[in-house]
Amino acid sequence: MDSEILKIHEAYRKGSLNCSGLIASRIGELEKSNHNSVNYMLSDLAMEMAAEADDRIKSGKELRPLEGIPFGIKDVYMLQGTSSSGSSGILKNYKAPYTATAIVKLLDAGAIPVARENCDCFGHGSSNENSYFGPARNALDKNLVPGGSSGGSAVNVARGFTTFSIGGDTGGSIRQPSGYNKVYGLKPTYGRISRFGLMAYASSTDCVGPISRSLEDIRLLINIMSGKDSRDQTTFKSDAIPDEIFRNDPDLKKIRIGYYRNFIESDNLDENIRNDFIRLIGILKEQGNAVEELEFYDDTILVSAYYVLAMAETASNLARLDGSVYGERVAGESIRDQYALTRSENLTEETRKRIVGGNQVLAHGYAEDIYQKARYLRKMITDSFNRDFRNVGIILSPVTPNTPPLLGSSLKNPMVMYLSDAYTVGFSLGGLPALTAPLGTDTGVQITAEKNGEERILKFAKYLKEIL
Ligand code: GLN
Repeated sequence: MDSEILKIHEAYRKGSLNCSGLIASRIGELEKSNHNSVNYMLSDLAMEMAAEADDRIKSGKELRPLEGIPFGIKDVYMLQGTSSSGSSGILKNYKAPYTATAIVKLLDAGAIPVARENCDCFGHGSSNENSYFGPARNALDKNLVPGGSSGGSAVNVARGFTTFSIGGDTGGSIRQPSGYNKVYGLKPTYGRISRFGLMAYASSTDCVGPISRSLEDIRLLINIMSGKDSRDQTTFKSDAIPDEIFRNDPDLKKIRIGYYRNFIESDNLDENIRNDFIRLIGILKEQGNAVEELEFYDDTILVSAYYVLAMAETASNLARLDGSVYGERVAGESIRDQYALTRSENLTEETRKRIVGGNQVLAHGYAEDIYQKARYLRKMITDSFNRDFRNVGIILSPVTPNTPPLLGSSLKNPMVMYLSDAYTVGFSLGGLPALTAPLGTDTGVQITAEKNGEERILKFAKYLKEIL
């Protein structure tokens, strides 16, 4: 049994562990840690919930699926009554008036939130250095970035501070930090989990997803969070994924696998990651899997298309942060001055850059040439996926072109930072499910299937774990 959730439950049932003790020790570890992975601790709330869970456990009542399980929440989700800053200065004193749908479902299942986790401001970044709270540090080497934007979440899981964390992925923000900290992270199919209560970055690709050390727990968590939500019209109903999928299945050797030749041949790809990835493909061939080389768009095209669309959407979404309804207000002589001062003084440089860029690509005279072109590219990317998935069942790729950079280096060279998303953004534009599994290369392997193919992805990840 690889599920850490089930292991904790077993210990609760046997009486070898009590929830208050577990939660107190996780809080203690988080408080001692110098990874800067947390923006706000939720200690009082967590200890209160733990006492209730202990009562429940003692009473012999059936445990709810996540009873007494400590988890972390990326600081971009609404959790009623708690500070919800998006790692921004502008919302540092903002308290959420309601709770996000995905988080409500976790709480209803008995999970206990222990911390609101550090991330790049509003999801803008790939290194967790664009945070009002300062950078988080990589779980395995504190001199390195943890990746982003869900850096704090991946670090907390990797260090064992949380049993799972809920990240958010717009262009790679769950998958890339999961790769950099060697844990599992799933970006589900767009629309599988409600975005209601997630601060919007780019609404057309934003996804809620779990980060965990256990594949089995990823399955449990997406089953709990998935489902149609009348408050997010892009959601759809999906079937629960049964635990039998992790049983040995000889048919896995028959799955046809695709990988993108141009990803692997790219000059931007680290030599060791390339070699390890090629080795992994070789092992699959030895297992009898048919492997097909596929053509895709080059990393620079994917990154450009993604950033044009993401910046356009974030410029629109963040227009509400003007100090009149939301945000720390900086008074000016006129309402116009107030907007300008509030936004220039309280938003980070990276976020301001994206807002200016987004407004630019949407502006009259530019939208046709830039924004519409990116939308057209997105359509071509989707068509290309549809064609590929007629021939293959799984697409594999590296998660990142490089290993995590030193803290401080990404901000000096933003182009390199943007390119660290080269292998994740395409799948986001296609709305496809994609998992980072900490296997094969130093930053893991990305496993993608067609829409709603989470079951196949998890099955395949287990298979890969066994054969590697
Ligand atoms: N790093 C990418 C960006 O900055 C993706 C971020 C995300 O998925 N939230 O846009």
